[in-house]
Amino acid sequence: MGRRGIKEFRAPEALALVAADRDHQPLVCPSCGARKIVRVPRRRALRPGAPPRAEKITLTCQSCGRHAEYIERGQEPTRDTTMDPLAG
Ligand SMILES: [Zn+2]
Repeated sequence: MGRRGIKEFRAPEALALVAADRDHQPLVCPSCGARKIVRVPRRRALRPGAPPRAEKITLTCQSCGRHAEYIERGQEPTRDTTMDPLAG
């Protein structure tokens, strides 16, 4: 009957939170409604010329303690694999 130290969002809740973060919307906890979502790492200003990198984003609600994680993909140029050169 003990509480577990780590609580996680339900899948739809985590998806909603991740979607809001990706859309750069204000982050509101989908479980308890608190606007106390801590994002790690923090959003960084886009630097021109900086190589986009995929990194793990952790979103934690400081109110209810739930957290969600996702991998943010860098803004890679869309590359079609069918366009690989066959001959150089
Ligand atoms: Zn919460």
